[in-house]
Amino acid sequence: MSNNFKIPGEIELSFPVETDADGYYDKECPSENCLSKFKVHQDDWKALDEESTIHCPFCRHEAGPRSWWTTEQLEQAKQMALEQAKHIFSGHLDKMLGGMASDFNRRQRSGSFITMKMDYRGFNAPEPVMVPLAAVDVMQSKITCGSCGFRFGFIGTAYFCPKCGHHDIEAIFAAHLRKMRKMPETIEALQVALGRDEAANLANTLMEEAIKGGVTQFETIARHYYVLVTGALPSREKGNLFQRLPDASAEWRSATGKAFEDIIGKDDLGRLNVYFQRRHVLGHNDGHVDEKYVATSGDTSYQPAQRIVVKVGDVLDFADILERLVNGLRESLP
Ligand SMILES: [Zn+2]
Ligand SMILES: [Zn+2]
Repeated sequence: MSNNFKIPGEIELSFPVETDADGYYDKECPSENCLSKFKVHQDDWKALDEESTIHCPFCRHEAGPRSWWTTEQLEQAKQMALEQAKHIFSGHLDKMLGGMASDFNRRQRSGSFITMKMDYRGFNAPEPVMVPLAAVDVMQSKITCGSCGFRFGFIGTAYFCPKCGHHDIEAIFAAHLRKMRKMPETIEALQVALGRDEAANLANTLMEEAIKGGVTQFETIARHYYVLVTGALPSREKGNLFQRLPDASAEWRSATGKAFEDIIGKDDLGRLNVYFQRRHVLGHNDGHVDEKYVATSGDTSYQPAQRIVVKVGDVLDFADILERLVNGLRESLP
């Protein structure tokens, strides 16, 4: 068999990469442990120089700007390359394509679902939730980094700006509230994409995660404010102070003169405490109510041995109270 044909070492082909309706490109973390997808605004991305270091918004993996193609973009590029290659090397196609395809396929995964990173830390690491693509748009959060102005988007909760790596606590808290408030739309989109039963299962998971994430986000921002007020984090003996509202409120009063009750009133603080206790049961006891829940939450709508069922109205109510409390904390900053 003759083998005179030389395959050039490198051919440069360029492919158009599409943006979404708001002008954002899809990107994917190249770290094998993460592979999370996110979005970046095309103008901000194009303004980066070749030497920039990009940070994954979820895991903070670092790599240069050329390393963030998504599996789908690579797949599409492969298809286009094959088309072009057909013209260029019509007689020698098979041999060449073998190597090319296997190279691209290394990273290929199922394209019809995307992995959603959940935002709650500690305890047992949560399983990633697979979200159908058709419901992804409505679940997308888009934020602008408060430190460098870079615009990016993500599903679930991201922590770091791709450009500067900053963890913008305010922007991420606000994004979590918007996500909670979009729950009705999200559930509707899931129903369209999946059908009722499957949508209901996924919606339950998302609503439970929204409650857990709300507590986590509150804890993060409250600790941040606490440092601004007192100059230090709460002492170690106090444990996860901001997960325990009565203790957190007492601490805040001694630091600023204001208790949580003074900010949101007794009734709302009571309901907020119920959501916090539910999150505790969801996180530690797979949602199964026990005596301790009934005692600490004062919630008489559940009895021990029942399981918490999160409702859309709960998620919306929780978002409202959280927002008011955090606004109040912010106002009492020095
Ligand atoms: Zn990552
Ligand atoms: Zn930034």
